[in-house]
Amino acid sequence: QAPHVLVTGGAGYIGSHACKQLARAGYVPVTFDNLSTGWANAVKFGPLVQGDLLDRAALDGVFAAYRPVAVMHFAALSQVGEATRDPGRYWRNNLGGSLNLIEAMVAAGCMDMVFSSTCATYGDQDGVMLDEDTPQRPLNAYGASKLAVEGVLRDFGVSHGLNSVIFRYFNVAGADPEAEVGEWHQPETHLIPLMIEAAAGARPALVIHGNDYPTRDGTCIRDYVHVMDLIDAHIRGLDWLRAGRGSRVFNLGTGAGFSVADVIGHCAASIGRDVPHEFGLRRAGDAAALVSGSQRACEGLGWVAQHSTLEQMIADAWRWYQTGGYSA
Ligand code: UDP
Repeated sequence: QAPHVLVTGGAGYIGSHACKQLARAGYVPVTFDNLSTGWANAVKFGPLVQGDLLDRAALDGVFAAYRPVAVMHFAALSQVGEATRDPGRYWRNNLGGSLNLIEAMVAAGCMDMVFSSTCATYGDQDGVMLDEDTPQRPLNAYGASKLAVEGVLRDFGVSHGLNSVIFRYFNVAGADPEAEVGEWHQPETHLIPLMIEAAAGARPALVIHGNDYPTRDGTCIRDYVHVMDLIDAHIRGLDWLRAGRGSRVFNLGTGAGFSVADVIGHCAASIGRDVPHEFGLRRAGDAAALVSGSQRACEGLGWVAQHSTLEQMIADAWRWYQTGGYSA
């Protein structure tokens, strides 16, 4: 029988792509998701267990029923703006939920976790190229709660022998080129899907959050990674853990920074549509620039981003948008 991998947040954007690739790699992805932001019909490649990370008994039940060989832990609240308005929810879900999960893993003897962390743990660093040794100074409760989970994983590694591959994501975008799964948030807050909706005429002008940042055109700079490249790194991270190579942190960025204005400018070239837009105020908690080199992931995992051009990310997001998403 194929080995099972527990995928928390498997009904969400990144988790659903992970399930597809895990199934391709010969695993059975078991999704554990409370469906607070995910979609039951995004779970297409293995079973769905609807449950909450704050429910320890539900977690123990999943480990007993499926005996997963490893966990990919995507489930979390992930919006910077919301985290700044309601930090308690972020700490409770992201730290409390992860601690429950990690304790349930140790209790079940499942000792390998791939964890979704974030570049938001770095905070603002004056535009320097980030690497894994850059000091972490999160600007918001989202980044701070993810950094705390990194600390929990380190401590459980020392005391209980838990192994973790921690991926600090930069800005994930695009969709499965086959459009079986994609990004579908309600409400949407992320730049590329909002831009696609504005380009399609499905919403009014996109508001650029601030054009007075200390960047080349005044808008924020981010490092965009295609979700297929990001998941490729996760499969490599799982292989790394299963080969007994121990705990490691990797940034998943491409080394290329694009401003909000750059992203909007690429829309016409990619899908032949202009994006109606206007300038608005800064969004609380945003860093001016977050860009990472990929040397460690390249050397350690053999990871090279293959799909992370703005053209392909926008084209794949557009193709997925046209399917009508999960509400179709
Ligand atoms: N952004 C924007 N308008 C929007 C949504 C996002 O200008 O309607 C900007 C946002 O301020 C940030 C960048 O786009 O500089 C990426 O934001 P997103 O929410 O996609 O990802 P984050 O960087 O917060 O993870």
